[in-house]
Amino acid sequence: MRWETDVKLAEHTRYGIGGPAPKFGRPETRDVLATVLRETQPGMLRVLGWGANVLVSDAGVSEPVVVLDGDFMHLEHGDSWIETGAAAGLPTLVGEARRSAFEGWSFLEAVPGSVGGGLRMNAGSTDTGLWDRVTWAEAMTPEGETVRLTPSEAQPGYRTVAVSDAWVFLGARFEATPGNSTEIEKRHLRRRRMKVETQVYDLPSCGSTWKNPGAPWGSAWRLVERVGMRGARRGGAQITERHANFIANLGDACAADVWWLMAETRRRIHEEVGVDLEPEIRLWGFSEDELAAIGGEG
Ligand SMILES: Cc1cc2nc3c(=O)[nH]c(=O)nc-3n(C[C@H](O)[C@H](O)[C@H](O)COP(=O)(O)OP(=O)(O)OC[C@H]3O[C@@H](n4cnc5c(N)ncnc54)[C@H](O)[C@@H]3O)c2cc1C
Repeated sequence: MRWETDVKLAEHTRYGIGGPAPKFGRPETRDVLATVLRETQPGMLRVLGWGANVLVSDAGVSEPVVVLDGDFMHLEHGDSWIETGAAAGLPTLVGEARRSAFEGWSFLEAVPGSVGGGLRMNAGSTDTGLWDRVTWAEAMTPEGETVRLTPSEAQPGYRTVAVSDAWVFLGARFEATPGNSTEIEKRHLRRRRMKVETQVYDLPSCGSTWKNPGAPWGSAWRLVERVGMRGARRGGAQITERHANFIANLGDACAADVWWLMAETRRRIHEEVGVDLEPEIRLWGFSEDELAAIGGEG
């Protein structure tokens, strides 16, 4: 695999934001990925999918970054299963499930990203996550060993999974139950329409910025609205009018603009409501102080 140097991550994130990575590569096979992992200090390799849930700082990151490619793009299915590599798109997976009339996949409509990112984030709706459809997933350890995990071993939760961040997801086998194609088609279209009408697809964003805080507060967007931050703008970034949990890049936003909106929102909600919001998006390349101000982890 050829490493590129000093690669601007803005070109690889949906936000179109982010400084450079010192090294950037695209492993296409498990053998190549295993070599990369063994040659990198454990836990110091960053894996990017479609970058639909990552805000990279303007300074960039100090670790090498890989995007899986080649063999990791595969997708095939039988009568009751779908298997994909981690680089396959979630839209490709859900499209395959819909066309094959498999039940229970509409929750994943209009969720941009890769299967690897979806497994890491347990992507999905409020009540269903990708891991609810997993039979097994495979991940590679920093030592280059492949491990097969069942959902009970991975312990998925709300936008999280108990699998070390140092492990790289390679792919998964999903359950697929045949159903009524007309009904399935309707459910998928309904879900897609709901997402497109209520969320933001015409401007770059990372989707929901904050995790929902749970009872009694419900949705994070209600708290953002309550403290007067819906529509707030900083530089080229804006908390969107359409959905107060989305922060959009209006064209020339930098990471500091998005960070400021997050910090100000979180500060106001802490002071006025007493709730500390937790970011849903992943934050790369920020300092400890910057992360503390938005309740994030590196
Ligand atoms: C308009 C819009 C709507 C959205 N709607 C939803 C929604 O309804 N539900 C939802 O859950 N999310 C939603 N999202 C967020 C996003 O689509 C999901 O989080 C998705 O899973 C991100 O996948 P990705 O490949 O882009 O991951 P990335 O953003 O590239 O990475 C996210 C995290 O996963 C890790 N990762 C990526 N690939 C791998 C791998 N192979 N192995 C290990 N770790 C890996 C990264 O290191 C990072 O920590 C939305 C985003 C947008 C922009």
